[in-house]
Amino acid sequence: MRRSFLVPAFALLATAAAAAAQNSPLDSKVDQELPALVATYKSLHAAPELSHHEDKTSALLAQQLRSFGYEVTEHVGKYPNPQWQGHGVVAIMKNGAGPTVLVRADMDALPVEEQTGLPYASHVRTKNDAGVDVGVMHACGHDIHVTSLIGSAKLLAAMKDQWHGTLVLIGQPSEETIDGAKSMLTDGLYSRIPKPDYALALHDSSELETGKIGYTPGYALASSTSVDVTIRGRGAHGSRPEVSKDPIVLAAEFILAIQTIVSRENSPFDPAVVTVGSIHGGTKYNIIPDDVHLQLTIRTYKEEVRQHILASLDRIAKGVALAGGVPEDRAPIVKASETEVTPAMYNDPNLTEREVSALKRGLGADNVEEKSPVMGSEDFGQFGLEGHKIPTFMFMVGAIDSDRIAKSEKTGVPLPSLHSSLFWPVPDTTIRIGVKAMTVAVLELMKK
Ligand SMILES: [Zn+2]
Ligand SMILES: [Zn+2]
Repeated sequence: MRRSFLVPAFALLATAAAAAAQNSPLDSKVDQELPALVATYKSLHAAPELSHHEDKTSALLAQQLRSFGYEVTEHVGKYPNPQWQGHGVVAIMKNGAGPTVLVRADMDALPVEEQTGLPYASHVRTKNDAGVDVGVMHACGHDIHVTSLIGSAKLLAAMKDQWHGTLVLIGQPSEETIDGAKSMLTDGLYSRIPKPDYALALHDSSELETGKIGYTPGYALASSTSVDVTIRGRGAHGSRPEVSKDPIVLAAEFILAIQTIVSRENSPFDPAVVTVGSIHGGTKYNIIPDDVHLQLTIRTYKEEVRQHILASLDRIAKGVALAGGVPEDRAPIVKASETEVTPAMYNDPNLTEREVSALKRGLGADNVEEKSPVMGSEDFGQFGLEGHKIPTFMFMVGAIDSDRIAKSEKTGVPLPSLHSSLFWPVPDTTIRIGVKAMTVAVLELMKK
C-alpha cells in the first residue's frame, strides 16, 4: 500500500522538476538568441577550414566575442612547422574576485567531401598540406561547438551580476591533428592568462538524441599516439628472392606479431588498441623493394600501458628483422610522433559529480545520461596539464533527432558516425542544449 502511494508522488515531483527545468528564465534567453545562432552555425558549416588554417573561423569568433565585451587576443599558437600560423582565440572577461574558468571550443574541419545534401552543405574544396585537392567538411561538428561558445559567451556577458571571477573563452585550432591545444600552451597561454581553476568543453555526439547530455566520470577518451614504422630489407629482382631480404614479408610478419601485444602482454583491465592504418611498399610486380613504411595508431588510458606498447613495437620489429637475417645496419626504425600525440582525456571525478548535479537541475534529470568511455581521442585534456593538475570536464551534447535513431534501431543500419560525410547534427535543438548546458556548467562554478 505504502509503495503504491509513494510511486505516483515521486512521479509527480519528477514531472514538476522537469517542467521547471524546461521553462527557466535561462530557456527564454537561449530561445531569444537561437535564430541568430542557427544562422551563424549554417554560415560556419558552409565555410569549413582545415586544421592549421582556421583563418576566417577564428576571425568570426574573435569579432563576436569582442562585440559582447570580452578582451580578445587572436593568433595564439606556435607550431614546430613554421608554415602554420597560430589561429587560437583567447577571450577574457574579468568580473571581480573569484575562480578562473576556461571554456574551450575547437574550430577546425576535416578533409571530407560532404554528402549530406543539406541546403547549407559545404561545397568547399582546397589543397591540403601535401598539395592534394580535397573536399572540406565540418564532419565532427566543431561548428556546433563554436556556435555554442558564442551563445554562452553572450548570455554570460549579459548575466554578469550572477557570477564572479575570470571567464576565459578559448577558440582552439587544430583539434583533429591533436596539436592545437599544445600550440596554444607552447605559445605561453598560461602565462598570458590567469591559470584556470577549472576547464570545461563540450562535444556533439552522433549517437545521443538531441536534447540530451552524456558524461563519463574519470577516463573518458583515450590517449592517442601516431607511430611510423620502417621495415628495411634488401631489394632485388622479384625472381631472385634468395639475394633479397624481403621487407614485404617481414612487414606481414610484423603486423601479425604485434597482434599479441594487446591480447597477450597487456592486462585485460587496461584498455588498449594497436591499429595499422596504412602500409606502403614497392613499386612494381617484379621488384622486391628496399623498405616498407607503416603508420600505426596506439590508444590507451594509462601512460605506462602506452610506454609498454611502444617498447613492444620496437622489440618485435627488431626481433622479426633478426629472425629474417636483416643486417644490423638495416634494422627497422620505430618512431613515435612528437606532434601527433595527446594524453587521455580525464574527467575529474569531483568536478564531474558537481557539474552533473547542476546539469540535472538545469536540464532535467532525464536528459543527463552516464556513458561508457571510448577509445577516441581529444586534445582538450592538454589544458588540464600533466598529471591532471587542473580539473577538466568534457560532456557530450546529443545531436541526432529521435526519428533517425528509431530508424537506425529498426533497420540495424548504424547512424553515420562523427567524421562521416553523411553526419549532420540537428542545428536548433543541439545548439539550444549546448548553449544552455555550458552556461549552467559555468554558472555552477562561478555563481555568486
Ligand atoms: Zn573529430
Ligand atoms: Zn571533434
